[in-house]
Amino acid sequence: MYDFLIVGCGFAGSVLAERLADAEKKVLIVDKRDHIGGNAYDFYDTEGILIHKYGPHIFHTNSEEVFRCLSRFTQWRPYEHRVLASVDGQLLPIPINLTTINKLYGRNLTSDEVVKFLASKAELRKPVLTSEDVVVNAVGKELYEKFFRGYTKKQWDLDPSELDASVTARVPTRTNCDDRYFTDTYQAMPKNGYTQMFRNMLSHPNIHIMLNTNYKDIVDLIPHQKLIYTGPIDAYFDYLFGKLPYRSIDFHFETLDQDIYQKTGTINYPISNLYTRITEFKYLTGQKHAKTTIVYEYPTAEGDPYYPIPRKENQDIYNEYKKLAAQIPTVYFTGRLGTYKYYNMDQVVAQSLALFRKIIKEENAVPQ
Ligand code: FAD
Ligand code: UDP
Repeated sequence: MYDFLIVGCGFAGSVLAERLADAEKKVLIVDKRDHIGGNAYDFYDTEGILIHKYGPHIFHTNSEEVFRCLSRFTQWRPYEHRVLASVDGQLLPIPINLTTINKLYGRNLTSDEVVKFLASKAELRKPVLTSEDVVVNAVGKELYEKFFRGYTKKQWDLDPSELDASVTARVPTRTNCDDRYFTDTYQAMPKNGYTQMFRNMLSHPNIHIMLNTNYKDIVDLIPHQKLIYTGPIDAYFDYLFGKLPYRSIDFHFETLDQDIYQKTGTINYPISNLYTRITEFKYLTGQKHAKTTIVYEYPTAEGDPYYPIPRKENQDIYNEYKKLAAQIPTVYFTGRLGTYKYYNMDQVVAQSLALFRKIIKEENAVPQ
């Protein structure tokens, strides 16, 4: 008899498995894939270069609790991600910053001057509801067209005006020269990769792992007290209220017989090409190798569900599932797919730690 059957070996499931095992619970964790780590899974390709199977994953967080939690299972390599956007024949920093504006317009503005410059371009939007509003309100239509509209259309197959503000709000506007993609307190990559970190996390004697296993095939066969589900919530309920839309990506990997391919970890292509961005893994991992592997991301509607699509009509469907989920006290839904939230890795870890506390509190409240 297991105390918990956990569906999904990604961040959501693995963090909970470890916490519960440490609290002396017996845990079975299953994944239908042939590996642990969920979408953060990394491995060495045939040339021996460490790559991320499901696209580039850069760890960043402001949460000391999250960073401390993961630090028990990995050492870190400090890494600050930098991204350039290919616009008007130039490679310019994104998020838009002082350098972006000066290079794009051939100017030599100071920080104070660029504040005024952007204010003169910005079109006030009140209230700011959509992803178009966010950008146009900050930098105006011209920069919106150059950096955001095309990229967003490719990534989501929606116009930014059809997406929640939260999507483009992930990318700020800066009036200084800070060209880091993220400004979080903790920015680092697991020194020996994500998969090794997951291996360490799941190596507890109270945790059993079953890969290549759809939980539906075993859920009635393996006795367990409670279920934690981190797959897509609509699939759990057999699409009772209809399918929740997700965006997927085709990843095209290329290994090149050269040390370095591009100027920085990621180059975005907001206007040209069918792919959104190219990432070169060696920047992220710090690996030294005579060759280099890059990945192109081609967004698509078909395929594994990678991105929940933040917009009201989808949230309404999710809320129906959420209401139903709340009526099943022995099943917990969590993670990016289980709660249909466009969460980064650290947010999923924080969510799992919060759920762990809730579960323990509930268990302590029930007389044994
Ligand atoms: P997942 O990792 O998706 O794990 C869910 C697991 O459940 C999967 O392994 C799946 O196989 C399994 N599962 C589903 N259904 C079943 C079933 N029926 N039976 C058994 N198993 C099942 N975050 C960052 O912080 N930084 C980044 O740079 C970053 N880059 C990203 C780039 C891309 C292209 C993508 C798609 C995501 C990125 N993320 C990034 C987000 C990050 O991947 C997620 O926040 C995180 O992986 C979510 O973890 P999870 O455990 O909730 O879900
Ligand atoms: N975005 C954009 N142009 C860019 C970078 C981002 O339009 O050069 C928009 C786009 O809609 C994207 C969103 O901002 O989906 C969030 O970007 P982020 O880099 O956070 O996406 P992720 O890494 O999660 O795919």
